[in-house]
Amino acid sequence: MVKINTKYQSPNFADETIDPKYIVLHCMCFDDKTSLEFLCAEANGVSAHYFIARDGQIYNLVPDNKKAWHAGVSKWKNDEMLNTNSIGIELGNTGTLGNESGYTKQQYDSLIELLKDLQGRYKIKAENIIAHSDISCDRKTDPGARFNWSVLVENNLAVDFSKLSNTTDYISNLTDFGYNITYGEKNVIKAFQRRFLSDNISGELDNNTKQFIQDSKINRG
Ligand SMILES: [Zn+2]
Repeated sequence: MVKINTKYQSPNFADETIDPKYIVLHCMCFDDKTSLEFLCAEANGVSAHYFIARDGQIYNLVPDNKKAWHAGVSKWKNDEMLNTNSIGIELGNTGTLGNESGYTKQQYDSLIELLKDLQGRYKIKAENIIAHSDISCDRKTDPGARFNWSVLVENNLAVDFSKLSNTTDYISNLTDFGYNITYGEKNVIKAFQRRFLSDNISGELDNNTKQFIQDSKINRG
C-alpha cells in the first residue's frame, strides 16, 4: 500500500471522468507548502492529481478519475490536450522554471512506488510515462534537465530512447518516439536533449546529438 496524505484537496478539476493512458511528470518551483497551497487555491485554476514533497510525502489532491488541470496545450504521438487522458504528478523543486534543481532520494523512492501502483491499476505502459516538457515542448521545461530518467527506466517505469528508435532519419526518430513536429524542429530537439542529453540543450541537431541517435539505433539490437 502506498502511503498517501490527503491533507490538501484541490477544487481545480473538471467534473469529467478520465480513463488514464499517460502519466505526466511536472515540478513546482516554490517551497513545498507554497506549492501545495498554490495547487489548491481556486483562483489559480491549476492542479495535479499528486504532489510529491522533498521529504517523499505523497499528497493526493484530485481524484485519479477526474480531469485535473496540469498539462494545458499538449501533444504526444496522436493525442492532444492530454488532461483528458492523463494523471499529473508534480514534484517539489527548489530551483526556478527552466533551471530546475535535482530531486531527493525520498522523492525518487516515493515516485517509483506511486508509479508502480498507478501503472498496475490503470495498465499504463512505460512508454507513456513522460515529461511535461515532452508534450508541451515549445513552452515547458519541467521536471527539468536534472530529473534522472534512468531511475525510472531501471524500474520499467519509463523507456530509453533506444528501445523505440527505428528509422535512419534523425527527426523521424524523435517523432516516432512521440515528439510532435508541429512544435517546430528546434523545440522538439531541445525537449529531446533535455530528457536524453541534458548537458547539451542547444536545440541544434549537432554531431553529438546525431551520434547519440545513431548509437541508440545500434544498441537496439
Ligand atoms: Zn508542468
